[in-house]
Amino acid sequence: MVRRSTKLILFGGTFDPIHRGHLEVAAYAHKLLNLPIHLLLAPHPQLRPPCEASYEDRWSMLQLACSSSSELIPVDFEKHTVGPTHTISTLEHLRVRVRENFVWVLGSDAIANVHLWYRAPELPNWLSFFVVKRPGFLDVQPPRGFELVDDAKKVVKRPGYIYIASQSTIDFSATVIRDNRHQGKDIAHLVTQPVYDYIISKHIYQTKDSC
Ligand code: ATP
Repeated sequence: MVRRSTKLILFGGTFDPIHRGHLEVAAYAHKLLNLPIHLLLAPHPQLRPPCEASYEDRWSMLQLACSSSSELIPVDFEKHTVGPTHTISTLEHLRVRVRENFVWVLGSDAIANVHLWYRAPELPNWLSFFVVKRPGFLDVQPPRGFELVDDAKKVVKRPGYIYIASQSTIDFSATVIRDNRHQGKDIAHLVTQPVYDYIISKHIYQTKDSC
């Protein structure tokens, strides 16, 4: 449960599994915004294939990965959503607690799809974006209706802004982790030790099943 506040910083994902690239994004957002980062687990994302690990396993891994920092807060607001999860519906539910603004953190690969999000034209009234560049996705165009700003802290002030960080993250993806596991390759350097131990002990991603 989120406490009543004026602003909330959310970093959403399937986290299948959560990896060091995600943690780098969250740490960078925290460094520039100086606010806690809430990592929101998506049960049934709208624009991608089904996850391989179960919601419960992804939630356990997210909690383990966030346990090393009090500034990274795992949240499961979308847990009971039936059907695809939509960002704007989640924000509508949270509005009763968060009065002014949401900041949505995401990687630069995801920004190109924002126009496909549910009720996309309304998004500038609801949130500002904090974008972290991802290798292979360095040319980032602001989605329609969002004003580009060069001061990261501005995105906290009100909805409708987009800040694009100049720095790029490490080239890690959950897809590579899953593929490495399918092929019996090591993934220890891609995730934190507690997440690695969890994946190994529960035999996750050994075969290419979806949940
Ligand atoms: P997959 O490979 O399964 O698509 P992913 O590694 O992209 O997974 P997601 O859970 O889909 O992880 O991503 C959640 C968010 O994290 C998205 O906004 C995505 O752009 C961002 N993200 C993931 N990895 C990185 C990275 N290395 N650098 C910057 N952003 C990242």
